[in-house]
Amino acid sequence: MSERLVVIGGDAAGMSAASQARRLRKPGELEIVAFERGSFTSFSACGIPYWVGGDVEERDDLIARTPEAHRERAIDVRMRTEVVEIDPRERRVRSRDLASGAEEWTAYDKLVIATGARPLRPDLPGIDAPGVHGVQTLDDGQALLDTLAEMETAGKAEGRRAVVIGAGYIGVEMAEALVHRGYEVTVVNRGKEPMSTLDPDMGRLVHEAMTGMGIAMVNDAEVTKILTGDDGRARAVATEDREFPADVVVLGIGVRPETALARAAGLPLGEHGGLLTDLAMRVRGPVADGAIWAGGDCVEVLDLVSGRERHIALGTHANKHGQVIGSNVGGGYATFPGVVGTAVSKVCDLEIARTGLREKDARAAGLQYVTVTIESTSRAGYYPGAALMTVKMLAERRTGRLLGTQIVGREGAAKRVDVAAVALTARMTVEQMTALDLGYAPPFSPVWDPVLVAARKAVTAVRAGGA
Ligand SMILES: Cc1cc2nc3c(=O)[nH]c(=O)nc-3n(C[C@H](O)[C@H](O)[C@H](O)COP(=O)(O)OP(=O)(O)OC[C@H]3O[C@@H](n4cnc5c(N)ncnc54)[C@H](O)[C@@H]3O)c2cc1C
Repeated sequence: MSERLVVIGGDAAGMSAASQARRLRKPGELEIVAFERGSFTSFSACGIPYWVGGDVEERDDLIARTPEAHRERAIDVRMRTEVVEIDPRERRVRSRDLASGAEEWTAYDKLVIATGARPLRPDLPGIDAPGVHGVQTLDDGQALLDTLAEMETAGKAEGRRAVVIGAGYIGVEMAEALVHRGYEVTVVNRGKEPMSTLDPDMGRLVHEAMTGMGIAMVNDAEVTKILTGDDGRARAVATEDREFPADVVVLGIGVRPETALARAAGLPLGEHGGLLTDLAMRVRGPVADGAIWAGGDCVEVLDLVSGRERHIALGTHANKHGQVIGSNVGGGYATFPGVVGTAVSKVCDLEIARTGLREKDARAAGLQYVTVTIESTSRAGYYPGAALMTVKMLAERRTGRLLGTQIVGREGAAKRVDVAAVALTARMTVEQMTALDLGYAPPFSPVWDPVLVAARKAVTAVRAGGA
């Protein structure tokens, strides 16, 4: 008899799960119904900054698979339909058609929760004024582009000002996008330095580089309200003691797991508010009763370096989770062992990368460590185009196990972090890293790659007993 798989959420995790399950089970064996409350399936939010900035021309370039393409593969995608309740005891979900308001129950044999994350939107005066934009969905990106186009056609071509609130990777990527569009950009940030996923000393390098690009960086500042003009539109962002004029305001403050439905259903959530799963991405506990899986931005993941559970909202994980879930619900077997916390980003020509633990993560995990920071170049020093990069490395005191790496630099800096990510996954020591057989030729790196230079210095620090 055919089973029914119900998927809540039609983006990375949900549709990867549905597609993989369909690869393994034919329509006669497994019926797949996917609910999506938005207007798109399988889209790349990651590309929104580059679309807004003009590097990517068309919105549709960011759509990997449309609802029609999913339907052709016998996945019954129900768009603009929101799941409003999960009833795990009766194994059914209640959905609402957002156009008509009509509701219905749909029974499941297996359920995938892939509801993603919800952007933080602080409850500030003026936050809902026209001209204030989030960038979570393609609709958000389009609304922002419409605002920018309106200003351009209204002739406000000179002296256009944008304020970005938040200096995480979305904030800095949006700052770049707005610089590309000719805006004077101010980034207002609560933290001491931008990119709180780095240690502050590395964040400082990002700060200095962004200032050098003409972006005004305002750190340690709490936004108190968005000021509006006579026309009701946003005209400035106010902190406790200053005002920053703005023709457009972009929010990049961070996200939280979208788990209200799961919470209401009594499913287990972790300390960061994400769903808790086992290694097969099956939701833990008696309420789920072995019939519910979850993945993507709505779950917590095991940090393989610290051994603690974390919430890391990244598309790279969401796609892998979906693949694992789809294999398992499709009758195969796969697991997601955890993450080491690798992330890369850029602002204009500055590349930013991190993997593993920051100093404060290591302390919170009770680990003692040494740190080293080196400067090297992206190519042999004599080769044209060699650019500086700074590598910071953390290694465990006494054992020398690599704990984390952060890199800030120009071309070729970001993806170097992947070597450190592999070393972390393999639980290598910094001494073992120094023997890695990495590629070398003058156009690509110095004889000692910057990551290896840092590892060598870390070996010395470990032997010295640590600072
Ligand atoms: C601007 C931006 C840039 C990014 N850049 C990167 C990057 O460079 N690298 C990277 O790895 N990650 C990046 N990300 C993060 C990445 O986009 C997310 O981690 C990824 O989309 C998560 O996939 P998901 O399927 O878990 O959740 P989502 O993509 O959020 O999808 C969840 C879907 O569920 C739907 N939904 C939620 N609740 C319901 C419900 N009750 N009923 C029906 N439908 C529902 C939502 O409408 C949504 O479409 C970026 C994100 C943004 C916003």
